[in-house]
Formats: sequence, structure tokens, C-alpha cells
Amino acid sequence: MANFNILLLPGDGIGQEVSVEVEKLINWFNTTGIAQFSVERGLAGGAAYDAHGEAISEDDMRKAQSSDAVIFGAVGGPKWDKVPYDKRPEAALLRLRKDLGLFANLRPAICYPALADASSLKRDVVEGLDILIVRELTGGVYFGEPKTIIDLGNGQKRGIDTQVYDTYEIERIAKVAFELSRARHSRVASAEKRNVMKSGVLWNEVVTKVHADHYTDVKLEHVLADNCAMQLVRWPKQYDVIVTDNLFGDVLSDVAAMLTGSLGMLPSAALGAEDPVTGRRKAMYEPVHGSAPDIAGQQLANPIAMIASFGMALRYSFGLKDWADKLDQAIANVLAQGLRTKDIASGGAHIGTAQMGDAILAALKKLA
Ligand code: NAD
Repeated sequence: MANFNILLLPGDGIGQEVSVEVEKLINWFNTTGIAQFSVERGLAGGAAYDAHGEAISEDDMRKAQSSDAVIFGAVGGPKWDKVPYDKRPEAALLRLRKDLGLFANLRPAICYPALADASSLKRDVVEGLDILIVRELTGGVYFGEPKTIIDLGNGQKRGIDTQVYDTYEIERIAKVAFELSRARHSRVASAEKRNVMKSGVLWNEVVTKVHADHYTDVKLEHVLADNCAMQLVRWPKQYDVIVTDNLFGDVLSDVAAMLTGSLGMLPSAALGAEDPVTGRRKAMYEPVHGSAPDIAGQQLANPIAMIASFGMALRYSFGLKDWADKLDQAIANVLAQGLRTKDIASGGAHIGTAQMGDAILAALKKLA
């Protein structure tokens, strides 16, 4: 039986509540003999600032480095709005992404049939939607230098950000997208702006070469990022995997997110490079949503985004694809039974965070 080390960082606000529901699943897995998960708990965000004066302690960073996967809840809240910039709760996330080298952000957008009416688009446009956005996470315009505001001395200022990509950064994210597509429908759309950006020209060239050299079994399509945004709203089911840079990925994944209904439904993964010896990747799994201070502590949070994030860990870090599929099916079954947390109840009857977590665990046990 395989053993895995998990660092669980619940964080702040509803991060705490939704983490409890993932722990229930982990505890159950540990009783079944399917795999053995050793869980260490750490502090991140405001909780860590209160305890250590930092968004994450060195000790927890060491644990993150040696873990097979970090499972992260959410951080932030009004209590920490005035802490110094480099110690703000979100600094924990940035530090983890940077120090673990998590360059590939995976954001699936799945529209469960039972929730198709919760989308702002028509049912036939979104029902059964299952796309995966692979976003480059550690390069591009969010990190490129120079990045500054200069005073032009004539009453004007100039804001500068630099969009910059090197070949190796594009190659490695393209490989992740092609590899992942093989376990899906073997179709990749690469989105950039080669018509107006040099980084887009290079992106296009490198993705084309990686495809021709290693992945001719996968169907590759190039799409301009603005057209991709339009197509996502027009007919999103045309896509399987979309690979794109940091900036366009930020926008396109939020567009895709809204196709599916609620923030409380969206998981994500961030993966690093494959270790040449063990074949494992550093990885962090987290719901897309934040700490939701408006509903924290009231058992109103939807735990599905967090539970589905754990499902992604089963798939991408623990080699338990069948169990990841079963967990996704358990979520679909619970929704098909009509169980809803408040955010997806459309004003109808709803259950609490723990009840939703319990229902998904019960549905998983039935599938086991
Ligand atoms: P948010 O995602 O926390 O909440 C936005 C809205 O969605 C709120 O009305 C909230 O109640 C609702 N919501 C979010 N998750 C939900 C869930 N699981 N179930 C039901 N409803 C849910 O975003 P925000 O309000 O802009 O930010 C709140 C705090 O979270 C801020 O401090 C922000 O900086 C932080 N934040 C953290 C992360 C992260 O940790 N990855 C991401 C985004 C925001």
C-alpha cells in the first residue's frame, strides 16, 4: 500500500470549515487500505501571522517541501487588512508557489448536469461541460522586470509591466498540457496574442515545436486569446484542454469558472517539475475561492471546491485516478439527489457544510 505525506494548511475563514470535510475523506481512505495518508497540519495566512508574525513559518515551508502534496484552504480576512504588505495572508500562497516551483496551474471547469440551470448561460451550452485550463503560473507579465511606476517629471507618470517568456518556460507548460490531454480527449488549444505580442509569437512557435517533436497524437489548435474568451462564452464544449500564459490564463479561467455556477464548486491544482528520480511533482491543491469572511463560521460554505481539490490530488499526486473518478461521481450523485449548500440552492432548501461533506463521503462509500 502506498504511503503519502500531506501538509494540510486550512488557513483562515471558511478554509477551516472546508478542510474538516477533506479530513473526513482522508480518515476514511486510511481505514480502507487503499492508501495511507500521513497528515501534518500547519498554519497559513492570518492564522500564521497571529502565531508567528509571518504569513507562513519556515517550519511549515520545510514541511511543504518534503510533502507529496500541500492541501490549502483559503487565506485572508478584514482582521489582517492592515498588516505589512510582505506579511499579508496571500503572501503565504505566493511563497509556496515560488519556493515549490509550481509553474502549472490546472483549473478544471465542470458543469454538473444537476447545476446547469445555475449558470448564467443556457443549459445546452454548459450541461456536461468538462474543460481543463492549464495556466502558466510563475512567469509572464506578473513577474517580468522592469515592473515599476516612474515619474516623467512633467506631471505625468508611467506604469510599466513587462511580459516576458523564455523558451523553457513555454516548453514545460506545453508538455504538461499535452500530457494531461492524453488522459482526456487529446485536444489542446493554445491561446496567445501572436498578432500583437512578440511573446505570443514565441509562445506559438515553441508550442508548435513541442507538439511536432513529441505529441503528434494530440490535436493542437492555436487560438488568439481574445477569440478564446469569446468562444468560451459562445460554445465552451468545443474545448478539451486550453494552455495559456499567466495573464490570459487568469482571465480565461475566471470566464470558464462562471460557466459552472458557483465559486464554491471550483477546485485547482498547481504542479511543479517532475523529479527525474521519483517521477513525482511538487504540488499544491486548493479551492479557487477565498476565505469568504461574510459566511465564515456559520456552516454555510460549500465544501465541494475543497473536496474536488483533494480529488485532483488523488489524480495527479497519488496515482489514484480511479478513486478521483469515484469522488467526482460521488459529488455528481449528491447533487443529482438534490442536496445543495446555500450558494447553489437558488433560494431553495439547503444543507450545511458538514452535511454536504458527510453526504459526499456516504456517496463515495457506496461506490467503493
Ligand atoms: P471569496 O472567494 O472569499 O468570496 C466571494 C463570495 O463568494 C462571497 O460572497 C463568499 O461568501 C462566496 N463564496 C466563496 N467561497 C464560497 C464557498 N465555498 N461556499 C459558498 N460561498 C462561497 O472572495 P473575496 O470575498 O473577494 O475575498 C475574501 C478574502 O479571501 C480576502 O481576504 C481575499 O484576499 C481572500 N482571498 C483568498 C484567496 C485564496 O486564499 N486563494 C482567493 C481569493 C480571495
